[in-house]
Amino acid sequence: MDNPLKTERLYEKDAYCREFSAKVISCEKEDEIYNVVLDKTAFFPEGGGQSADTGTLNGIEVVDVQLLGDTVVHKVKENFPVGSEVVGKLNFDIRFRRMQNHSGEHVLSGIVHSLFGYNNVGFHMSKSEMTVDFDGVLTAEDIEEVERRANYAVYKNLPISVSYPSTEESEHLEYRSKLDNIENLRLVTIGDIDCCACCAPHVLSTGEIGMIKVIDSTPNKGGTRLTVIAGFDAFSDYSMLNRENKKLMKTLSVSRNLVSDAADKQLELINQLRYQNAELSKRLAWAELSPITLDKCILAFSKDLSYDELRHCANMLMEKDEKMCLLFSTSDEGNYIYVVSSKTEDTRPVVKALNEAFSGKGGGKPNYAQGKIVSDSEDKIKAFAEKL
Ligand SMILES: [Zn+2]
Repeated sequence: MDNPLKTERLYEKDAYCREFSAKVISCEKEDEIYNVVLDKTAFFPEGGGQSADTGTLNGIEVVDVQLLGDTVVHKVKENFPVGSEVVGKLNFDIRFRRMQNHSGEHVLSGIVHSLFGYNNVGFHMSKSEMTVDFDGVLTAEDIEEVERRANYAVYKNLPISVSYPSTEESEHLEYRSKLDNIENLRLVTIGDIDCCACCAPHVLSTGEIGMIKVIDSTPNKGGTRLTVIAGFDAFSDYSMLNRENKKLMKTLSVSRNLVSDAADKQLELINQLRYQNAELSKRLAWAELSPITLDKCILAFSKDLSYDELRHCANMLMEKDEKMCLLFSTSDEGNYIYVVSSKTEDTRPVVKALNEAFSGKGGGKPNYAQGKIVSDSEDKIKAFAEKL
């Protein structure tokens, strides 16, 4: 028996239908949402990696569209009486961008399949880009060649047509995305470069796609995931990159093709300066250090030094004296970092006692340890060192 709620899908026959009249054949409330079924619709439901179309029914926003069997369900926040007439309007700017992207993906996938024999095994279209997963490895050179051919196919303005072969015809046809169920097969053919089973709306010729650009590629489950944009989205992306490049050109005072070289040079310079700065900081720490020589050790207190700077000072002290060095630095009241080092003695018993006496944490190797302690006065630490 025929499904009484079967929806005529206008988007399958005419991808450019942006406004239509239809009759409400069912409207059921589910929580706060009404599931509206029309006798026909131009709203493409979510499916095949593509989001549902957006737009309105009698001016009321359509928040989602889902396909259940042969029924297209529009989710809206108001009740529509069964039997009433509605006017549906698509947000066609968004739909057209999706058509450009989706057709662009078919061009790209068709070329990858014919050049390398790889299949498109995953497709997802987000607001800003598409990801296309192939079951084979594509090198940077492969991707450049695919892009070049894809954009040449755009320039050739190849026709994009939809056909519905019979079950018998389908058995002998070569096309991508073969389906187990070939009843009601819908094929999208792009000139002589691609033929693929697909339910989505497409542009009428490759010229309407505009630029097809791969913006990223990553290894994915033994194959390759490409991030792709086409059409107006590619143009917007190019404009954004151009704005960013112009800012960098100004900052770095270079021409548009030399930005990354100039950035590399700046980074190299920053690394050099960081190294020089670290060396100067160590020298300054050493110059400002006032060590106290005790019976068994050398003790010193500083401010705002790092472990590296303390270690440098300890190394300098050990060049002159065989005694164990205990160096402390504080950045905020009561909290100290420390370095304990010795050329000849095991520092670990001293570090253990230090941690126990001052709620400390830390450790290291026999001749070097570092950590943190808490003490309300330097005198208490000094008293500890004197008892060693
Ligand atoms: Zn498709």
